[in-house]
Amino acid sequence: MDFSRPFSLLSRVARPPRADLPWTLPWAPGPQLDSLGVAREIFSDFTQVPSDNAKKTTNQNLIVSICNLDKKRTLRSTKAGETLGLPIDPLRHNVGILDSSDSGCGICSSFCHKVFRVSVEDENHINLMHELASTSQIDFWKPDSISQIKLHSTVDFHVKAEDVDTVEDFLEQNELYYEVLISNLRSMMEAQFDSHGRATGHSYTKYNSWETIEAWTQQVAAQNPDLISRSVIGTTFEGRSMYLLKVGKAKPNKPAIFIDCGFHAREWISPAFCQWFVREAVRTYGQEIQMTELLDKSYFYILPVFNIDGYVYTWTKDRMWRKTRSTQAGTSCIGTDPNRNFNAGWCENGASTSPCSDTYCGSAPESEKETKALANFIQKNLSSIKAYLTIHSYSQLLLYPYSYSYKLPQNNAELNALAKAAVKELASLHGTKYTYGPGATTIYLAAGGSDDWAYDQGIKYSFTFELRDTGKYGFLLPESQIRATCEETILAVKHIASYVLGHLY
Ligand SMILES: [Zn+2]
Repeated sequence: MDFSRPFSLLSRVARPPRADLPWTLPWAPGPQLDSLGVAREIFSDFTQVPSDNAKKTTNQNLIVSICNLDKKRTLRSTKAGETLGLPIDPLRHNVGILDSSDSGCGICSSFCHKVFRVSVEDENHINLMHELASTSQIDFWKPDSISQIKLHSTVDFHVKAEDVDTVEDFLEQNELYYEVLISNLRSMMEAQFDSHGRATGHSYTKYNSWETIEAWTQQVAAQNPDLISRSVIGTTFEGRSMYLLKVGKAKPNKPAIFIDCGFHAREWISPAFCQWFVREAVRTYGQEIQMTELLDKSYFYILPVFNIDGYVYTWTKDRMWRKTRSTQAGTSCIGTDPNRNFNAGWCENGASTSPCSDTYCGSAPESEKETKALANFIQKNLSSIKAYLTIHSYSQLLLYPYSYSYKLPQNNAELNALAKAAVKELASLHGTKYTYGPGATTIYLAAGGSDDWAYDQGIKYSFTFELRDTGKYGFLLPESQIRATCEETILAVKHIASYVLGHLY
């Protein structure tokens, strides 16, 4: 570590004041790998950090230096008892916890994880992206994989600190047009917890850990017995219970609308939406006409987190994890992309047969316990389920079948009109613009998705939401946007639900 550098860097990277930076970190105290896979010591509060924090860890032989925020809100970086002694104003700098790859207290020079956006305008650009992906480790954010890159589009991807220089040189040498969407991923990760005051319990305007969500499913059902019942539809690879909330006034033979969240582990705004929906149902039943009617005439099945193991992993080990956490013989790579694992054109297009890929389709359709549990539940309840909505992020899209091929669904005109009306409703609140259409033609081919599968089971109204934003924060949408995102999305969901109840089949 070059300790002479932070002093000069400070003046260069001074940022405008940010009052919304979190003062504490939400992770559990104790030594662990951080979200970027770097060993570090985590303290529940900066004020608890001892004065000398130089830690030798066995992991990667890193010396982990920790920025220490004392009560006067000055930061000091220390190494082996030697204090660098430069107070840093955390309101003016990226405050964070250091590893040996950083050069200052969370201050990023050229050496930090970044997210790039590259414009792809011709075949040559696509070839260059393939070349880049084969030589550097690239974590695709949008599209989901290298094979899904299309002409006249942009590609968002995350690059590890050690590869940033190589990637940037490559882009410049080949005259690819690019911008840096996120220049310091670590500080962005911490900045997503920007709501004020971190309560320890459940909160609808914060990102909740699985443990908290699990307790919430129990509480919300217990507190609203007339409206909510909880069941378990299966267990995950790691043995966690997959809770399902059935929301609506009890009455026999009602139609149902199925909504799931948390397919892809890193899309945290998705589970936040499912929780918000339940809150709105409970809060506005008997008060607001549309919601009251929906809950009187139908049930909503809400699966708050589908890929629980992956979600837990994003809280404890790797914030950017996407897949399930299943293992299989013959490979050390972990996880399957659950939204490539359904039996709908399985693994034909826009999915990978490589277990190491982020879009790995699995060893067989429904190879994942989570996929099987969801498919079984829907098949068992097919006679009542009239709509299927699956919530992802990011991109601001409302998609309907098909994604596994360019063919159009039989009721394409109806789905198109419904999607158009739903995104209009959504935009009416905060002006958030969504694009809509069949998956394959609107974005790209992707086989094995749950929306296509549900549609082919006979559920005529099947939609995928890709919530906020369009790339500024990507998967790291700040908590301060949870409320607005959920409020606007609910308008679209209620519109679709009311339409479906008016067009029962
Ligand atoms: Zn997703």
